[in-house]
Amino acid sequence: MDSSDVAPDLTEILVTQEQIAARTLELAAQIDTDYAGREPLLVGVLNGAVMVMSDLSRALHMHVRMDWMAVSSYGAGTKSSGVVRILKDLTSDVHERDVLIVEDIIDTGLTLSYLIENLKGRGAASVEVAAMFRKPDALAVPLEVKYVGFDIPNQFVVGYGLDFDGRYRNLRDVGILAPHVYS
Ligand code: 5GP
Repeated sequence: MDSSDVAPDLTEILVTQEQIAARTLELAAQIDTDYAGREPLLVGVLNGAVMVMSDLSRALHMHVRMDWMAVSSYGAGTKSSGVVRILKDLTSDVHERDVLIVEDIIDTGLTLSYLIENLKGRGAASVEVAAMFRKPDALAVPLEVKYVGFDIPNQFVVGYGLDFDGRYRNLRDVGILAPHVYS
């Protein structure tokens, strides 16, 4: 769906599908260069990272492997607590693999810092992160993120895989959700 399909539900379109597509090509070029001669394992974090994984992986010119994890964080309401439960684990062995975690958005960074430690603990040769969106003002832990699409304000956004109550994942752009939708 396009922003025009849900215009009353958005207060602002933050990033357009064209901007996402252009930035994806830039990130992919950087990843192609950085991983030249290697074959990284892309680990997508379900469900939000489906769109990023799909577009980023196809923009790469090298061979990669792909696998998926689903996690849920124990927390009050919409706040992440950093205590993470693995709902679906990888099917691949990450031992001595170059792992690139593919994420939709980094908010507090708590989920990601858990995942990074978890994958390092399994003996990955390297663990890096590619995230399409990051909210720098919300970061609660120091986090090294090698590939970031866009830094955005500390607001609740939907689209490009990001949902509210299961909806808006198939919105092509990313926008700020209007308060009347969730209040
Ligand atoms: P963190 O552990 O970094 O606080 O939480 C990251 C996860 O929270 C993301 O993978 C995403 O599922 C969810 N999240 C954080 N911010 C937003 C947002 O603005 N919109 C949506 N739809 N999900 C978000």
